[in-house]
Amino acid sequence: MRKIIIAGNWKLNKTIKEAVELVNGLKQDLAQTKEVDIVVCPVYPALSEVSKLTAGSNIGLGAQDLYWEDAGAFTGEVSAPLLKDAGCQYVIIGHSERRQFFGETDATVNKKIGAALKHGLTPIVCVGEVLAERESNKTFDVIKTQVTGAFSGYSAEDMKKIIIAYEPVWAIGTGKTASPEQAQEVHKFIRDLLVKMYDVGTAQTVRIQYGGSVKSDNARELMSQPDIDGALVGGASLKRDQFVALVQNANVKK
Ligand code: PEP
Repeated sequence: MRKIIIAGNWKLNKTIKEAVELVNGLKQDLAQTKEVDIVVCPVYPALSEVSKLTAGSNIGLGAQDLYWEDAGAFTGEVSAPLLKDAGCQYVIIGHSERRQFFGETDATVNKKIGAALKHGLTPIVCVGEVLAERESNKTFDVIKTQVTGAFSGYSAEDMKKIIIAYEPVWAIGTGKTASPEQAQEVHKFIRDLLVKMYDVGTAQTVRIQYGGSVKSDNARELMSQPDIDGALVGGASLKRDQFVALVQNANVKK
């Protein structure tokens, strides 16, 4: 059985002080939550401070991106060893905002996955179609290209350590959520693709999160779908009460 995993992507929000306040609140409210894996992904400068609070708790820590080289003349970049040093266990790779605004491609996603795995970070690899692609019936082609490009060259053992986040770009930050059926259809497509690329056991092991305007009031229905194993959450992860309610509602028995 795959354990539900809810990750909050805080994007470019919250000062270090605000990040600390939010995590302290989440620790209090979610201390008893054992059935759901919880992760927060603050901005880089807050990671180290937040890790002092998440260490030994049931809240994991993730970064929002990384660079594939460990060190060197790469001004402005952050590497996997540094994220480990700051206390991270997870790293988001290939978020649609990175693809849209910062030139991320399937090839760079592929390299970043290697760096994360090499240093023991769990990659949360984002894929998803834009509205025009959905409307022209290209969703499955786009997802197939992104998934095969991202995981090309990685073994089944590597794949078992990776989390995928299916995030239809038209649903991110827009308040438009994919219906549970629309999301399930793509999640199943991804899992079937993993069967073809690897094997049934690997495909059944990999957790596939949904992302796109997930809130406390739609979390239960989405998480109840057979191939949805969690959520990557933007807006609703920034407020203590909303994120706590979302995590609690995501705790569904399948
Ligand atoms: C995201 O950025 O990964 C996301 C899903 O954002 P939101 O929940 O705000 O749509």
